[in-house]
Amino acid sequence: MPSESRMTQHLDPRSPWVISTHDLGKRPGTMRRMTLTLPAPVDLGVDMIGVPKDAEVELDLRLEAVMEGVLVSGTAQAPLAGECARCLDPLTSEIEVSLQELFFYSDEDASEEDSLLDGELLDLEPTFRDAVVLALPLSPVCREDCEGLCAECGVKLAEAGADHRHEKIDARWASLQGLITDKDNDQEK
Ligand SMILES: [Zn+2]
Ligand SMILES: [Zn+2]
Repeated sequence: MPSESRMTQHLDPRSPWVISTHDLGKRPGTMRRMTLTLPAPVDLGVDMIGVPKDAEVELDLRLEAVMEGVLVSGTAQAPLAGECARCLDPLTSEIEVSLQELFFYSDEDASEEDSLLDGELLDLEPTFRDAVVLALPLSPVCREDCEGLCAECGVKLAEAGADHRHEKIDARWASLQGLITDKDNDQEK
């Protein structure tokens, strides 16, 4: 994106994730702690799990004015909802991510990927979104020891019972058994 359009991009001060840095007054070394509860951004998730729409995100932030801009660091906590990758049952859990982003006053100091302040405003949503997407489990499970579904018939193994199995001799397994037996016989010689 050309830097010209970055300069003209304006943030909406009424957007919940847009934060004012007014009281830092651009004085390097000035710091402010803030705790916030914000509504989760929409469509935040990967295939099997994500932050539900309208969920509350708890933020514990530190805003610090530095020479080039405002450094935001802290943590964010959000609920998760999704599906177990093994048994497909719905599951809920929670995620905590750390956030750290330097928002530059001017794009003269910043590279293309860096975040910029719009006057005294910064938008924390992209920072939060990136941190969550990176931290989400690709294969969430309802329990660490979830047995999942039977590969043969799709029944949930936790409900089917320990003796659930299918009587079917796999040709590859049969020939492997033959090999083991042959080897044992060889050793006995
Ligand atoms: Zn499961
Ligand atoms: Zn089965």
